[in-house]
This record gives sequence, structure tokens and C-alpha cells, in this order.
Amino acid sequence: MKIDMHVHAKERSSCSIASEKEHIEKAIEFGLDAIIFTDHNKLVPLDHLKELNKKYSPFKIFGGIEVRMKDNGEDVLILGIHDKLIEEREWTYPELYKFVRERNGYIAKAHPYRYKEYIEIDIENYIPDALEIHSTNIGKDDTKLISNLAQKLNCNLISNSDAHNSKDIGIYYNELESTPKNEKELIEILKSGKYTCGYCPERVYKFNKNVAEREEIIRNLIKEGKNKEYYHKLTGNWEGEFDRVLIGKSYII
Ligand SMILES: [Zn+2]
Ligand SMILES: [Zn+2]
Repeated sequence: MKIDMHVHAKERSSCSIASEKEHIEKAIEFGLDAIIFTDHNKLVPLDHLKELNKKYSPFKIFGGIEVRMKDNGEDVLILGIHDKLIEEREWTYPELYKFVRERNGYIAKAHPYRYKEYIEIDIENYIPDALEIHSTNIGKDDTKLISNLAQKLNCNLISNSDAHNSKDIGIYYNELESTPKNEKELIEILKSGKYTCGYCPERVYKFNKNVAEREEIIRNLIKEGKNKEYYHKLTGNWEGEFDRVLIGKSYII
């Protein structure tokens, strides 16, 4: 079963331009079998998940969440928690870790090293189930750091799209050895590591061509002394792209 575990729908993530329907239809078109909506600090209501699953069966839709830590801005992907407290509270990583572990949930670190050469959460004392190694928000410059850390912590790797646009859905995915009947089984498979990471080479190629063009524009703007707001106004593109080039990182994935 092919699953993309990091997807943002505009119904709950204001930074996404794709609706649930667009994501799901594209995911089916690209040959995925399942996705997990992981919106920023927002759960998918369980009755809504049920409806979506009924409508698009046998395609599966799961509901996770991407939580931003209040003290350092690091992002964590969570699966298996539907308690409203998770979106209502502001979290430090140790508090969230304890909360999720007590409820047998699943924790993965999203895009490690995105803007820095280090991770600000205490990942060595609170080891997640997985580190995300590929997505549209992880430059390939960072993959060595991420795989080294996974080895050191002895945790699994996952690869996802982090799609905010349906054309990116499933560009990276995970292929499970078996098809889970429910969320509990999905978590068991993920924790046991019985899956492999996969990607779509043609779409990664196209994505990178586009990134190279945008980064060229940004490098020129930096030379002219322009800032990220100017870049956003000029192109309509996300300011984060500018920040990353500014610190010398490339977001070729
Ligand atoms: Zn977002
Ligand atoms: Zn995300």
C-alpha cells in the first residue's frame, strides 16, 4: 500500500492551495492507496474522516496533525491522537511526547534541519518513531544529516510530499508491506518499519527544475539587496524559499 503521510488541505491549513478533494483525486490518479492529512495544529474531525473514506473507498484517508512547538518552532507529525487537547494546547516537545506516548500514538520529526544545522528539540532523550528524510520541504543537502541522525537514534525514516499543492501529492511516499485495516494497524506497521520509501522520478525532476529557476531569481534579488517580502510580492511564491537561499541552502529535493 502506497501512502503519503504529510499532506495539507486548505480546509484546515491556510498555507495550502489544494482542497481535500483535489488532493484525494490527484493521489488516486498518481497511484497512491492512502494519504494522511496532517494540517498545522488542526485535527480532521472523525465523522468527516468517516465520510471521506466512505466516499473514496477503497482509497484510504487518515487524519493526523502537524504540531508546532511553542518554544522553538520545530514541527512534529503525530498520528493516532484525536483528542481535541492536542490542537488546543500549546506544546513543548517533552510534554507532547509524553501525551502521545501515553496514548500509543505515533511521532515523527517533520523536515529536520530545515533552516538550521541542528535540531532544537531534545530528540536524543525523546526519540521519535521516525525522521522525515524526503519531502518538498527537505533539501537533498540535508539527507545525509538526517540519515546519520536516524542511525544514531535507531529510528525509522519516512518520505512524504508535505504537499500544499495537489500536483506534489505522492511525489515521495511510503510503500507498506501490508494493507492496514485501520489506524491502529497502520501505526503498528509504521513502528515495526515494515515499509520502504519510494518516489516518482519524473515529478522530482520537474520539481527540481522549477526550484532551480526560483533559486536563481532569489540569488539575483539578494545581490540587488532585496528582501523576502519583495520576492513574495514579485512572484507570489512563499517567503520561506527566500530564507533558505539566504542561509546558503538549496531546496533541490
Ligand atoms: Zn503549511
Ligand atoms: Zn507540513
